[in-house]
Amino acid sequence: MNITLLGAKISSKKMQETVSEISSYITKGSFHHVITLNAEILYRAQTDPELMEIVNAADIVTPDGAGIVWAAKALGKPVQERVTGIDLTLALVEEAQRKGWRLALYGGKPGVAREAANNLQKKHPKLKIVGTYHGYLSSKEQDEFRREMTELNPNILLVAIGAPKQEFWIRENKELDIPVMMGVGGSLDVIAGKAKRAPKWMQKVHMEWFYRLIREPWRYKRMLALPKFMWLVIKVKLKIKDR
Ligand code: UDP
Repeated sequence: MNITLLGAKISSKKMQETVSEISSYITKGSFHHVITLNAEILYRAQTDPELMEIVNAADIVTPDGAGIVWAAKALGKPVQERVTGIDLTLALVEEAQRKGWRLALYGGKPGVAREAANNLQKKHPKLKIVGTYHGYLSSKEQDEFRREMTELNPNILLVAIGAPKQEFWIRENKELDIPVMMGVGGSLDVIAGKAKRAPKWMQKVHMEWFYRLIREPWRYKRMLALPKFMWLVIKVKLKIKDR
């Protein structure tokens, strides 16, 4: 159940089906890459073949972001529902407690991953978090981190060093052979209580991007990708209609 959107293979599975699919990766073992794709990254991939290649080599790419869901519908290939990084993370954490999976958290400013782990542990007392690492490790610390990953042998590594840096990092570190490596952007900041998600009503009317723009105005340059992405989709749609 995949669609192809502007050259990228995207899953149209619902949240629960996505969690089941990811569960099967843990049963299988060996490396799997989970991407939650937003419009900004898909737009960037149009001119970055390496990024597009990474997206298409991933085991599952979920439609994160209202832009992707809108584009899929506009181009006549609707997905069943939006599966965001934060929602998928929280769903996987629940499953991890149920199934006894070992989790490791990597990314964010020093202290954020630890704080996120504490908050998750409060809510899920039996959750096994085997390690937390901040996202600004020196190359020596990175080597140590990789060694620890081999020893601790987590089932899931959540990588929160921002998109698309995290996607490149995961690809470069696939030999760690962790069954699920997933880029989760700013999710650890949200779980640690350092950043807030847009209110539910704003999420519903697909205005999360606006909330983020107001709270983090310095992101405006990156966010300009959104109207450019929409324009690209409109152009593709008009071309389709011409045929
Ligand atoms: N981050 C990090 N290391 C880096 C760059 C970023 O750990 O070298 C973290 C940053 O602290 C933040 C997260 O990555 O917690 C997400 O960053 P951003 O909001 O830019 O990414 P997005 O949510 O758009 O993927």
